[in-house]
Amino acid sequence: MSSPETLGDVLCARIENDGPIPVEDWMATCLGDPQYGYYMTRDPLGCRGDFTTAPEISQMFGELLGLWAVVVWQQMHMPAHVNLVELGPGRGTLMADAIRAAAGVPGFLDAVQVHMVETSPVLQSRQRETLQSARLPVMWHADIDALPDGPMIVLANEFLDALPVRQYVYQKGTWHHRAVTWADGAFKFVAADAVDPDLIPAPFRTAAEGAIYEDSPAVLAVTKNLAGRLSAQGGAALFIDYGHTVGGLGETLQAVSRHGYADPLAEPGDVDLTAHVDFAALVACARDAGATVWGPLTQAALLQRLGIDERAATLAAAIGTERAGEISTQHRRLTAVDAMGHLFKALAITHPAQPAPPSFETAIPMRDR
Ligand code: SAH
Repeated sequence: MSSPETLGDVLCARIENDGPIPVEDWMATCLGDPQYGYYMTRDPLGCRGDFTTAPEISQMFGELLGLWAVVVWQQMHMPAHVNLVELGPGRGTLMADAIRAAAGVPGFLDAVQVHMVETSPVLQSRQRETLQSARLPVMWHADIDALPDGPMIVLANEFLDALPVRQYVYQKGTWHHRAVTWADGAFKFVAADAVDPDLIPAPFRTAAEGAIYEDSPAVLAVTKNLAGRLSAQGGAALFIDYGHTVGGLGETLQAVSRHGYADPLAEPGDVDLTAHVDFAALVACARDAGATVWGPLTQAALLQRLGIDERAATLAAAIGTERAGEISTQHRRLTAVDAMGHLFKALAITHPAQPAPPSFETAIPMRDR
């Protein structure tokens, strides 16, 4: 047999040999297959890519997160060595902006060793280029397990949404794993084997025919690992992502291609797949691991409390009246309710002895779903 030419061929052959592929494996393979995976083969960001993220919209995002990291370090009583970690750093833009902003605070950069956790070789090399001028020790790891011990400050924007979700579908009175098969010339969702009902939270044990429930062992594994490290070794993590703060039924797996929605089963490996983050599950998992959890806040509240209005005014004044409109457009995209402001949430996890990290001093009520 000739070797398969696309990820679709590989997946088709797998289904023929082993039966339907669970949604979780489908998502993991489409994004992370070493040869054909979406992230492994390209830089998907920017206007000519498939999607844009907050740090790519404006330098203000990374700058404010850099200052967040500095204040957390000060709250940790300025340890002489701290690991500044970014998970899923894309083009490295956030870290570059963070380092530039933090350089104004004496001592911080001398204490910092930067660790980038990135699976994609393409994006790793892009990050190396971006951080070339940073003149700081930077190390790359493919997995959080490879992070060295010690206190750390972790930043993660749109990282958790790239981790695979499991799906279940309710059919004829029973929950089943949801999987992907090949039928009539296309990939299709199917109900696979029945699941142990204990896997489904009690309020959802019975549901309407065809209802979907999602969870993410991968998100919980990362959360447990980081929360355990933070509560043993000190520090804080800041996650920013889109998601819900109250668990519920419903499917959130989605595909994006060229800045628009796409079919998550068409063109495997060539479209981005994401799922909403279940912040309630993340909070419970981090607490179980001994860490303190703050928020979630909306992205708008986070950035406004960190001073985005003032930063935008300063940048607009420096850039001149002709281009000042660009800054206000960026500011709007990051904070407006009908843009990223409320869809994206920020959640912090800290060592139990840490005070509230910047912006998380007071909770604000949030509507959800
Ligand atoms: N944080 C960046 C990029 C978000 S896209 C930004 O805001 O612009 C998701 C990023 O996570 C990409 O860099 C992708 O390669 C990386 N990624 C996806 N799955 C990963 C995994 N399991 N481990 C580490 N990085 C991963």
